[in-house]
Amino acid sequence: MSRPLEGKIALVTGASRGIGRAIAQRLAADGALVAVHYGKSKSAADVVVAGITAKGGAAFAIGADLAAKDGVKTLYAAFDKEVQARTGATKFDVLVNNAAIAPFATFEATTEAALDEIYTVNVRSPFLITQEGAKRLRDEGRVVFISSGVVRTPVPDAAAYSILKAPIDNLTKVLAVELGQRSITVNAVAPGVIDTDMAAAFARDPAAAEFVKSKQSLKRIGQPDDIAEVVGFLAGAGGRWVTGQVVEASGGTGLVF
Ligand code: NAD
Repeated sequence: MSRPLEGKIALVTGASRGIGRAIAQRLAADGALVAVHYGKSKSAADVVVAGITAKGGAAFAIGADLAAKDGVKTLYAAFDKEVQARTGATKFDVLVNNAAIAPFATFEATTEAALDEIYTVNVRSPFLITQEGAKRLRDEGRVVFISSGVVRTPVPDAAAYSILKAPIDNLTKVLAVELGQRSITVNAVAPGVIDTDMAAAFARDPAAAEFVKSKQSLKRIGQPDDIAEVVGFLAGAGGRWVTGQVVEASGGTGLVF
């Protein structure tokens, strides 16, 4: 079995379920030691770690609430301790900023508190996680953000979420220049509708799922693995010459008027 990330260390935020879990599993299958970050559910993260370990991979769980003001400090305190214990250093190679929230609320119905929370989890945290992570990332490392197709085609019923994914695409470009000086690539993957708890209203309701498929070139509901494969490519040697890009993986959603 090929293990292209053997000897590498990866940190995946929000990896206890959904797309983040699939990414953690994929990077571990490729040979990386994976930090499985979770927000609230340690037990879910422990199940992900156990599943990876059962398949011969290596992983550990770290908890931090990214809605909290000091969430990023908490994350790296746990990460540093665990990585140090396993490798004698706090360096790593692949950072995947996946954690996010997507509450449904129109522009009119969005409260100030909801706006602040979406900003904190979806923009402020990935910014600070990457700023702090860059101090630990080895040269030729990888940063991958999980953006969204909503930047190109917004969902008005999730107005603040749609608006606040756009900064991720811009951050990707800014950091590709900044971290390119150290041969670190920085890219974003923008999923369309993927069958996770976050998108249950689209993916798991039969009528909504038909509507989603009607907008696509490839007529099926996307699965977490569809995104993990793209992240695996960007994290691996094959992705070495790709940087500053937002790769949409949406089965060709909204290609025609
Ligand atoms: P999900 O809700 O299943 O997973 C989100 C993850 O983020 C969870 O593990 C959760 O614990 C974590 N998280 C949320 N708030 C947190 C907090 N305060 N502190 C720490 N962790 C927190 O959703 P998903 O579909 O797997 O989403 C993963 C990524 O994919 C997100 O960035 C999302 O915006 C993006 N995305 C998803 C879809 C989709 O259709 N599912 C489409 C486009 C983009």
